[in-house]
Amino acid sequence: MLLETITRCPICEGELFSTVLQCKDFTQSQEDFQIQKCNRCNFHLTNPRPDRSSIGKYYLSEDYISHTGTSRSIFDFIYLKARETALNWKKEIISKKKYPGTLLDFGSGTGEFLQSMSKAGWNVSGVEPSELARNKANQLLQATKVTETLHLASSTQDVITLWHVLEHLHDINSTMAKLKSVLKKDGLIFVAVPNLESADAYKYRQYWAAYDVPRHLWHFSKSTMKALLQKNGFKLEEIYPMRLDAYYVSLLSEKYRNNGYHNLLSPISAFLSGYQSNRKAKADNNYSSLVYLASHA
Ligand SMILES: [Zn+2]
Repeated sequence: MLLETITRCPICEGELFSTVLQCKDFTQSQEDFQIQKCNRCNFHLTNPRPDRSSIGKYYLSEDYISHTGTSRSIFDFIYLKARETALNWKKEIISKKKYPGTLLDFGSGTGEFLQSMSKAGWNVSGVEPSELARNKANQLLQATKVTETLHLASSTQDVITLWHVLEHLHDINSTMAKLKSVLKKDGLIFVAVPNLESADAYKYRQYWAAYDVPRHLWHFSKSTMKALLQKNGFKLEEIYPMRLDAYYVSLLSEKYRNNGYHNLLSPISAFLSGYQSNRKAKADNNYSSLVYLASHA
C-alpha cells in the first residue's frame, strides 16, 4: 500500500498539523489511521492516507456495495426505508429552489437519486468512478447518463449535487473548480458531508462511523466547509440538517464500539443517541450531517 502525507492544508495552506484521534477501518482492512487537524484553520483530515492508486481496495467491502436494493436483515431494511425518505427529501429541497432543468450528480453511486430526479423532469447526468456502480446506474436510467469522469460543457448545469462524496475525493480544490466551471451563473450546488462537531461525533469519538477511515479523507465542520466554498469562488447560501443520518451513523457506531457486532440493545442505544444528537442540534445546527447550499460568489 502506498501512503501519502498531506503537508499543506488544502483550505488555508497551513503547514502544521496535530494528531487528534486514532481510528480503525472497521469495515474492511482493520488498519489504523490518524485523524489530524490543521493547527491554523482546524480542518481535519485522514493523514497519512492511501494514495489514489491504492485507495481502491478499501472500497471492496460487502458493507460498501450491498446497499443496492435487496434487504437481508432488519438493518438493511431500515437502511433502505431511510434511503427512500432521504431521496424524497433531497428532491424536495432542490425543487423549492429550482424548476426542473439540468442536474449533475457528482459521485452518483448506483443512480437511485438520478432516477428519482429524472422522473421529476430533470435532465440528469452523473459522474461515478466505480465501474460496478456506474453500470448499475446506467442500467437503472436506461441510458448512458453516468460517466467515469466529468466532461460536460462549461456553464451548462442548473444544479450540481454531491451527496456524501466530497469527503472521498483526493483533490477537493481542483474538483470544486471543475464543478464551478460547469455550473450556470445562476446555478446552485448542494454539498452534503458529515459534521465532526455533531453530538454523535463527540459521543462516539474514534468509533464515530462517519470518520470512516481511510475512505473519508476529509472531515468537515461548518467553518471549514464555509472556508472551502469561499476559497473556490462559491458563496454559502443555506445549511440544511440531515436528521436521519444521526440514527444511521449512531447504529453503525454502536456496532463498531461493540467490536463489530450488534447486540440486542444497540438499536435502542442508537435510537436514543440519534434523537439526542438531533435535539441538541436544534440550538447550534450541528446535526450529524449537513447539506451546504452555495451559489457563485
Ligand atoms: Zn488549514
